[in-house]
Amino acid sequence: MSKLKPILPKAKAREAMEEIKPAFASQEAVTEANRCLYCYDAPCIMACPTGIDIPGFIKKIAYDNVKGAARTILTANILGNSCARVCPTKVLCEGACVLEDRDHDPIDIGRLQRYATDRVLETGEQVVAVSPLKSGKKVALIGGGPASLGCAAELVRLGHEAVVFEKKEHPGGLNTYGIAYYKMKPEISLAEVEMIEKLGVEFRCGIEVGTDLAVDKILQEFDAVFLGIGLGQGRRLAIPGEDLPEVADAIDFIAEIHSQPLETVKLGKNVVVLGCGNTAIDAVSQAKRLGAESATILYRRSEEEMSAYGFEYALAKSERCEFMFQVAPVEILETNGHVSGIRLAKTDSNAQPITGSEFTVNCDHVIKALGQTKMEKTLLEWFPKLKLGAGGKIEVDPLTQETSIPGVYAGGDAANGGAEVVNAVAEGKRAALHLHQTFTGEAVTPPAQTTRYGIEPPFGSGFYEPVRVSG
Ligand SMILES: Cc1cc2nc3c(=O)[nH]c(=O)nc-3n(C[C@H](O)[C@H](O)[C@H](O)COP(=O)(O)OP(=O)(O)OC[C@H]3O[C@@H](n4cnc5c(N)ncnc54)[C@H](O)[C@@H]3O)c2cc1C
Ligand code: SF4
Repeated sequence: MSKLKPILPKAKAREAMEEIKPAFASQEAVTEANRCLYCYDAPCIMACPTGIDIPGFIKKIAYDNVKGAARTILTANILGNSCARVCPTKVLCEGACVLEDRDHDPIDIGRLQRYATDRVLETGEQVVAVSPLKSGKKVALIGGGPASLGCAAELVRLGHEAVVFEKKEHPGGLNTYGIAYYKMKPEISLAEVEMIEKLGVEFRCGIEVGTDLAVDKILQEFDAVFLGIGLGQGRRLAIPGEDLPEVADAIDFIAEIHSQPLETVKLGKNVVVLGCGNTAIDAVSQAKRLGAESATILYRRSEEEMSAYGFEYALAKSERCEFMFQVAPVEILETNGHVSGIRLAKTDSNAQPITGSEFTVNCDHVIKALGQTKMEKTLLEWFPKLKLGAGGKIEVDPLTQETSIPGVYAGGDAANGGAEVVNAVAEGKRAALHLHQTFTGEAVTPPAQTTRYGIEPPFGSGFYEPVRVSG
């Protein structure tokens, strides 16, 4: 039994986890929209993996056509509302905005996108058009995260059937269970799922493919399969003390925050988080917000080498989270079967422990944010001939998302190794466009593709017009 306890009362816990980016009021949104230069060949569009027509929707906001703006956004990216909240806009669309080069603040694209899409999510109004023509083709999507949602929504829009199999109680994947609460509440993800369901996507939740339902059965029933199963469990440390009751994985810690009332989330007074990627930052920030006296990141490399975005790091520091660089965990210490500290070694410039440098830090809660494992074993059990690439990622044709097995597609973290929500949606959508072409012979121009490392041509400028869609 763990000794962790809830710390803050209900009202304080809720206040502490309020969304960090407040919504625009109408007049603010119109004023911000009017700053846009409506650039020709707009770089912000090129920087969006889903190729949203950003100046197009901003212009609609400037003319108070909020529903039209939402339609432009959601037609290109069905998770446009959650992306408005969780996308690293500073390195994507806003990072590419020409105003930044002219010593002005870039357009606040994320908040404008949220302003437009909040309205339709709140009212439940259906603004995205669905083809009245039906092909009779059926696609099974394994996993209910952003990749499958992006693919399934596009398939039904183009006139095909889409059935999503999700092992958890609710669909949405990490959007529902993994994003930092102060960026997006799980209700937002579930409202998006509801909107996608209204488009015509069928969800079968609580079904773990491979355990509750054989893949062969799916292959018999469906014309094609999309694999959107994300990544596996958090990595293990393999040091003494790892199985003590106050040691948790960051993904499980964050999932707990999303699945129960905030005031019941248990944590220690002195929390340490191992790792320094974006997940580690999310975990440390949430521990501090929920009342930990100290919340400290321990990282074996230097400040310059951490993989967390600079703006996430700055946010955590502003919340008085602490950071120790060049230290590696050696042992998690216990007193009477409970965590009482962690023994660390200083590391050299190659992140190797320095002999004789060990010291102890007091803590009562250890959260591991060491990355997630891949799902190679499961995938090879399902498809023994499936080609896997470096590090166990599913190998796909980058233009179509088709795997080495004809009719089997993949996207999102399982195929890209772990990127952002917007990449998962873009990849799902690309698979749907190729499936559509395979089913009907009609081609649809795919969206531009961007990675966290920059824009990857060669799709040309951004947004696309789906064919055969009316409404
Ligand atoms: C802690 C954390 C914070 C993040 N924060 C951000 C952020 O702020 N912004 C951002 O853009 N990105 C963020 N990301 C990344 C983003 O969440 C992922 O890139 C995105 O969710 C990937 O979508 P996906 O559909 O590929 O996988 P997932 O979201 O992981 O969804 C996969 C789904 O498949 C289901 N599944 C797996 N196996 C089976 C099976 N056998 N049968 C049925 N269902 C199955 C799972 O239950 C899950 O629901 C974060 C990731 C983590 C871990
Ligand atoms: S780059 Fe900036 S100014 Fe130009 S269209 Fe995009 S948001 Fe507007």
